[in-house]
Amino acid sequence: MLLIGVKYQNKAADLNKQSIIKPVVISTWNHGVLANDAAWKILINNGDALDAVEQGVRTAEANPDVQTVGLGGFPDREGHVTLDACIMDHHNNCGSVAFLQHIKHPISVARKVMEETPHVMLVGEGALKFALEQGFQKENLLTEKSKQAYEVWLEKSDYKPIINIENHDTISMLALDENGNLSGACTTSGASWKMHGRVGDSPIIGAGLFLDNEVGAAAATGMGEAMMKTAGSAMVVELMRHGRSPYEACKEVVERIYKIYKNEPDLEWLQVGFIALNKQGEYGSYCLRPGFNYAVQTNTIKNKLINADFKIQ
Ligand code: ASP
Repeated sequence: MLLIGVKYQNKAADLNKQSIIKPVVISTWNHGVLANDAAWKILINNGDALDAVEQGVRTAEANPDVQTVGLGGFPDREGHVTLDACIMDHHNNCGSVAFLQHIKHPISVARKVMEETPHVMLVGEGALKFALEQGFQKENLLTEKSKQAYEVWLEKSDYKPIINIENHDTISMLALDENGNLSGACTTSGASWKMHGRVGDSPIIGAGLFLDNEVGAAAATGMGEAMMKTAGSAMVVELMRHGRSPYEACKEVVERIYKIYKNEPDLEWLQVGFIALNKQGEYGSYCLRPGFNYAVQTNTIKNKLINADFKIQ
């Protein structure tokens, strides 16, 4: 154990000698490309990572064709669109909303929770009341397209998540700004056809998102219950603290999750994916099954979509 510790310590020391790559923004799935564009405009103008991640993920929240986030998100099994989101800055400030209905930009409500209240998390009716007090508009988030998909689902009412298609497209974004500060955001309509009242990992600080400005940041997508059982994103950050690269840290947590679930029947419903970014501007990702991708933008990488490595077919 001691030897391993020394090895990782040396590695961390080596990293400190390298020049820091910044700014950097990474985010989950195809819609990460548009989100990165919005974030990048802020980052290259010397803006804060916090503003970058908020503005970045708002693009997915506002897009009715992204049916797993914000406006047009798939509803729960009772036909209600309920949203989860959280945000975190480089001072360990964080804000979160869960089971929030009728508000298109839960990420901005989460930021208001962080900045305008003494609390971290507001849920349901209380979150909605707070959002309205803050000037957010109440609107119908169930688009015709998502309503039709729900009606098709209702015919069988069979809860069988389809990996990488209907259930796993949370947008999680991590950014490192010119000042070397990290922030992260995560927003989702959660698992489609979920039980009414179900909250996933995405608004849970430590599960769907975590960062430590001395170390790095991590965020997740996929079956939220798995991230909650393992404190997934916090664990990725902790492993980076002990010298793992972002890629190694994501891989180790995915392997822990696999170990927990591997003997369950019909495991094909399970997908999890992590993205991570460290203080040096190095990034990495890993997922359980093929199909997860993420978008990266740096001064030299022009918003490229990368397929994450995976553990099993
Ligand atoms: N993690 C989200 C949740 O469980 C969904 C997803 O990313 O697919 O609510």
